[in-house]
Amino acid sequence: MTGPGLSARRAVVTGAASGIGAAVAARLAALGAHVVVCDIDAEGAARTAERIGGEARVIDLSRTADLAEAEFDADILVNNAGIQHVAPLERFEPERFAFMLRLMLEAPFLLTRAVLPGMYERGWGRIVHISSIHGLRASAYKSAYVSAKHGLLGLSKVIALEGAAKGVTSNCVCPGYVRTPLVENQLADQAAVHGLSTDEVVSEVLLARSAVKRLIEPGEVAAAVAYLCSPEASAVTGTELVLDGGWSAA
Ligand code: NAD
Repeated sequence: MTGPGLSARRAVVTGAASGIGAAVAARLAALGAHVVVCDIDAEGAARTAERIGGEARVIDLSRTADLAEAEFDADILVNNAGIQHVAPLERFEPERFAFMLRLMLEAPFLLTRAVLPGMYERGWGRIVHISSIHGLRASAYKSAYVSAKHGLLGLSKVIALEGAAKGVTSNCVCPGYVRTPLVENQLADQAAVHGLSTDEVVSEVLLARSAVKRLIEPGEVAAAVAYLCSPEASAVTGTELVLDGGWSAA
């Protein structure tokens, strides 16, 4: 895509201090959008915002009681913030499960709820949720993550049905393993739970089913998000763009 296809659009990107969110924020800004970089990490958010000429908004998206009252206005919402935790189900702390569902499913619901009235009024909106291959298939030891990512697919479809007549699309991007701090920080935990070294986790767990045999780059996910936010994608709604290097084809 070339040119400022999103000029005069205001985009809210959550978890944009790091990884995929930072790449999405940069891509949307390069297309002309004014980007609000939402993150709990104040320093990282300020860094991204400065780099892309956007604005930082420091917010803890797990505090959903506060979020219900928060004001958000956007033409584009990218629900990206997320965390991972790996543990056998019988030892997965219930508080952690609830926390992850708040951050990765309830917050996207609340943010969508906050931005929809403005989108409906203007007759245009793009909502993209960063789900995962684990929104389509399960993986042992990731009960909260898999539940939240599956839930996002359902939520996205409901938003798509309700928003279609009012110019609002809603879609998920389902990436395979992307080279970001989230994956790098989990290598040691995954190694412990699988009884492997971190190198073995990359080759035998993360890339075992990848056809392209490499991690995906954050910029590749950002390009998919940019397409879904583009004026050309107005008929693409309620669907998933799977960006997994052939992982789910096998
Ligand atoms: P990352 O750790 O690099 O970035 C996540 C961002 O979310 C961080 O900036 C973090 O500060 C922010 N965040 C965490 N808790 C928050 C909170 N309570 N409030 C506000 N912000 C908070 O991770 P990433 O790999 O870029 O992941 C981004 C999204 O992509 C996540 O939803 C993740 O599940 C999804 N995803 C990642 C991969 C992968 O392989 N990296 C694959 C599929 C999907």
